[in-house]
Amino acid sequence: MNKKLVIIGSGPSGLVCAMTAVKNGISASNILVLEREGELGGTLNQCIHNGFLKNLTGTELASNLIKAVKKLGVECRTESCVLSLSADRVLTVISPSQGYQKIKADAVIIATGCREQSRGVLSIGGTRPAGVLSAGAAQRYINIEGYMPGKKTVVIGSTDIAFIVSRRLAIEGAKVITVVEPKSAPLSDKKNIKDCLRPFNIPFQLNHNVTKIYGKERIEAVDICQLDKKGKPIKKTKQKIECDSLVYSCGYTPDVDIAIEAGMRIKRDTKGPFTKRNYETTIPGVFVTGNAHYIHKNIDKILKESVVTAESVAKFLQKANQPKKEKKNEDNAHIDRKNQE
Ligand SMILES: Cc1cc2nc3c(=O)[nH]c(=O)nc-3n(C[C@H](O)[C@H](O)[C@H](O)COP(=O)(O)OP(=O)(O)OC[C@H]3O[C@@H](n4cnc5c(N)ncnc54)[C@H](O)[C@@H]3O)c2cc1C
Repeated sequence: MNKKLVIIGSGPSGLVCAMTAVKNGISASNILVLEREGELGGTLNQCIHNGFLKNLTGTELASNLIKAVKKLGVECRTESCVLSLSADRVLTVISPSQGYQKIKADAVIIATGCREQSRGVLSIGGTRPAGVLSAGAAQRYINIEGYMPGKKTVVIGSTDIAFIVSRRLAIEGAKVITVVEPKSAPLSDKKNIKDCLRPFNIPFQLNHNVTKIYGKERIEAVDICQLDKKGKPIKKTKQKIECDSLVYSCGYTPDVDIAIEAGMRIKRDTKGPFTKRNYETTIPGVFVTGNAHYIHKNIDKILKESVVTAESVAKFLQKANQPKKEKKNEDNAHIDRKNQE
């Protein structure tokens, strides 16, 4: 199967790329969006809180984007996971309906979003019982699966999602005992502390961390310590706190295993693919956008970047489709212009 443009991922960045590509002259029938989950919309589907664009909820924004893309007639396949991408833009895709498939694309946009840093980065001593989960997993359990991850929760981290999930747990009747942050300043805006923690009387402690987890099958308690200036626990401040869940949020990293395996150059600081100004990666014809590119501060920036990325892809395809003769003439005109100068 051949396609002009394949977009990997149907979060806000992938969907906006699909819409912009059509607006820039790429026929909808030549675009394919591949999504590994059963629903389109990406992470927005688990964000039922407002604050997206003009105060929409994440799910409202997702629904608007999905409707717009479907109206344009772009083919979007769910349950289709891209396993790999080669340097000549052949994608290996697996899905229950189509099985194992190879798709050749003239251009590819990687819009695979980000994933949460794993619990390993916390380096907390003690046992490894159930009830210890990331903020994203907790958000998914409550908002999509309809399960409560716990009734007495300690939260580690001060990212937006740590605060949003603390509020969500409190709204659903859990007691959020405390939110601790090892650093001396919160990672998220102070406004989030005001909006998410204060109305529910959730304590927030900077320079504090969980130092030990207790429990065999299920978490039963944690030790919390104040940290000194070097980040070391101050022993005499240790407090054992009973809880049935521990939610952590230690930041995100671009989800770009496909890019790494394809041999793309990856930036050390952002951990996303290295790109030119037009968001093309070091593999010609393969572009990256959204949180797969780097972790953006907010959704507005992601949407703006995705528009520019799709415009660049349209230009790239236009150039690639120009007849060779025309291209040669253009090159000669460029040389002539240079000679005249
Ligand atoms: C767990 C979690 C919770 C978050 N909660 C919030 C929040 O509450 N508020 C907020 O503003 N931001 C939140 N974010 C940030 C959020 O990612 C962005 O706001 C926004 O959704 C990013 O858009 P995106 O299109 O770049 O990525 P995403 O929305 O993450 O979309 C990427 C899509 O690509 C798909 N995909 C990935 N790999 C493949 C593959 N190999 N094949 C096919 N499909 C693939 C994924 O399934 C996903 O649907 C959260 C992020 C995470 C990871």
